[in-house]
Amino acid sequence: MTPSLNADLHCHSVVSDGTLTPEALAQRARSNGVELWALTDHDEVGGQQRAAAAALALGLPYLTGVEISVTFIGQTIHIVGLGFDPEHPALKRGLERTRGGRSQRAIEMSQDLARVGIHGAYDGALKYAGNHALISRTHFARFLVESGVCRETNDVFRKYLTEGKPGYVEHRWAGLKDAVNWIRDAGGVAVIAHPARYKFSATEEFALFSEFSKHGGQAVEVVTGSHTAAEYVNYAAMATEFGLAASRGSDFHSPDESHTDLGTLPPLPEHLTPVWELLTGRIQTVQ
Ligand code: AMP
Ligand code: MN
Ligand code: MN
Ligand code: MN
Repeated sequence: MTPSLNADLHCHSVVSDGTLTPEALAQRARSNGVELWALTDHDEVGGQQRAAAAALALGLPYLTGVEISVTFIGQTIHIVGLGFDPEHPALKRGLERTRGGRSQRAIEMSQDLARVGIHGAYDGALKYAGNHALISRTHFARFLVESGVCRETNDVFRKYLTEGKPGYVEHRWAGLKDAVNWIRDAGGVAVIAHPARYKFSATEEFALFSEFSKHGGQAVEVVTGSHTAAEYVNYAAMATEFGLAASRGSDFHSPDESHTDLGTLPPLPEHLTPVWELLTGRIQTVQ
């Protein structure tokens, strides 16, 4: 499989904070020409069987996926796992623990929004959460748009729900080492998700890449819906410097909200090792 494969290894369904079902996503991926697909819901593998079954029924090769919330030197970052066994006990327990604090955080977020005159946000957000255990800031953002507080979800994250703004509640997610170990113990490959999104200094970013590699992390997202073309070049160089394979994924959440659709990103730079080369034995296909 070549670096130019139309792989899309990052997206979300109603099982976390996307608006489409796993089946609808499989269909959309297939229609958009995706040749290798992974559903990567936040902190949850409950959609994996449905996604794999739907993909295989369409003749679309599938890799299991997840996006784990991690706290690293005071910031929230995301680690994607690919090609693991979703039934592995350590991974399942770890994800359960990571999901655990979301309901309490959501109640506190709602209380903080009430402080600035926005009432009923918890119930409002919950209506959008297909999976109540996975209530996320995205569901709050949809409520704030619906109730006319903001025009669109991007607007929400500029004015609310982020550090220093109303509705933001600090939260402690999984540790980096734990997240990488859960993925590896379950037979998968760990990937640093959309690194350009984090607000790290150069030294902190170096620490992230070093520690991630030291714990056995093997890849980084280079071409993602969250990066600019200049950032593809920058993180291609980081992949080379740290000896990491490269991944590619839209981070598609919704036809109404996402600016990058499934399967529409440019290919990975030719000189990189695509993450799917590390996962050839883990790709599910119809025999
Ligand atoms: P949570 O895991 O509950 O903290 O929610 C994080 C989710 O919020 C991300 O996965 C995105 O889907 C969404 N999000 C965070 N920041 C932004 C942003 N600036 N614009 C749009 N969506 C965002
Ligand atoms: Mn999300
Ligand atoms: Mn993410
Ligand atoms: Mn994502």
